[in-house]
Amino acid sequence: MPHRWLAQRTSCFDSSGIRRVFDLASQMTDPINLSIGQPDFDVPERVQQAAIEAIRGGKNGYALTQGMPVLRDKLLARVAAEYDHADRSLLVTSGTSGALVLVLMTLVNPGDEVIIFDPYFVMYDALVGLVGGRSVVVDTHPDFRIDPERLRQAITPRTKAILLNSPSNPTGVVATEAEIRAVAEIAAEHDIALISDEIYRLFCYDAPFVSPARFNPQTLVIDGFSKTHAMTGWRVGFAHGPGAVIEEMTKLQQYTYVCAPQPAQWAAAVAIDVDMSGHIDAYRRKRDLLVGGIGDLYDVVTPSGAFYAFPRAPWGSGSEFVEAAIARQLLIIPGNIFSRHDTHFRVSYAAADETIQRGVEVLRELAKR
Ligand code: PMP
Repeated sequence: MPHRWLAQRTSCFDSSGIRRVFDLASQMTDPINLSIGQPDFDVPERVQQAAIEAIRGGKNGYALTQGMPVLRDKLLARVAAEYDHADRSLLVTSGTSGALVLVLMTLVNPGDEVIIFDPYFVMYDALVGLVGGRSVVVDTHPDFRIDPERLRQAITPRTKAILLNSPSNPTGVVATEAEIRAVAEIAAEHDIALISDEIYRLFCYDAPFVSPARFNPQTLVIDGFSKTHAMTGWRVGFAHGPGAVIEEMTKLQQYTYVCAPQPAQWAAAVAIDVDMSGHIDAYRRKRDLLVGGIGDLYDVVTPSGAFYAFPRAPWGSGSEFVEAAIARQLLIIPGNIFSRHDTHFRVSYAAADETIQRGVEVLRELAKR
């Protein structure tokens, strides 16, 4: 029984599955940790230096609600160069999660439907419920490709938004230009808000990144520095889209998060110009190390982006398989956290090569069980 003080919205989500893995990890002496959702490289030196200088330079007060000009102007210039949309404004947020919360609070009325693609990033389903909406799931199993026909069928008069995430957490799949264009056009045709979570946009290994904003000028893009620059703890994200929506999100930010941390914004302004391609190349190799290591024994779609793979459990349910892996010190995440199906598991290759290699060995042994 939940405690009598708790509001109903607290029952919208259950994070016990993922917390259990992290709790187990904290008790293990030498786990093979392939459960992590953040890069294994550190924040670039120049970015660290910029944060230190900002702090030493007294830039420690509240930031402007919409973001410090040093960062916001740079981001706006980049966005303008990319899209040339007449009506596109930008807000610096407290992480990409902050942008996601604000955009859902701004758009979704109680009872509205939000379409998400299964497998989905855990927060989507939870936050849609939290703002009183209803997730409508479009299945992309078994190849994790978006079928425009399935998307069309999921649209009802109550559909308010579509949430798209490419490259995807947890599958690592990058939607093709044709898929992205189809989603963008369907959203425009039905006058539905399209929210594009582009937090992994730099992590594309086989083809250039494509944003639906190229095909639908009304697209609401959310993005951030957590993954691209390993700044997960610094809480800097941003959202851009139609001015009227960004303006309401800014008002809401004023009464919720207030602002994104000021020193981190000065550092993010430096991060924009740091070349991360060396790390991206390293992650492509890590992807090959993992998929090459298990591809003959597992049913796994080769991920073209992010830093995850989402193989099918070779026996049992996804959760049963993960239990067995954890008993062997291998930390991976059960797929049912990200899906209505309990058939897969998520492996992160944001880890040292040696850790990936050890993980591959355990996975090979488990598959042959
Ligand atoms: N979207 C996706 C798809 C993610 O994987 C994550 C982080 N795991 C976020 C958003 C949130 O990132 P942030 O740290 O910027 O809040």
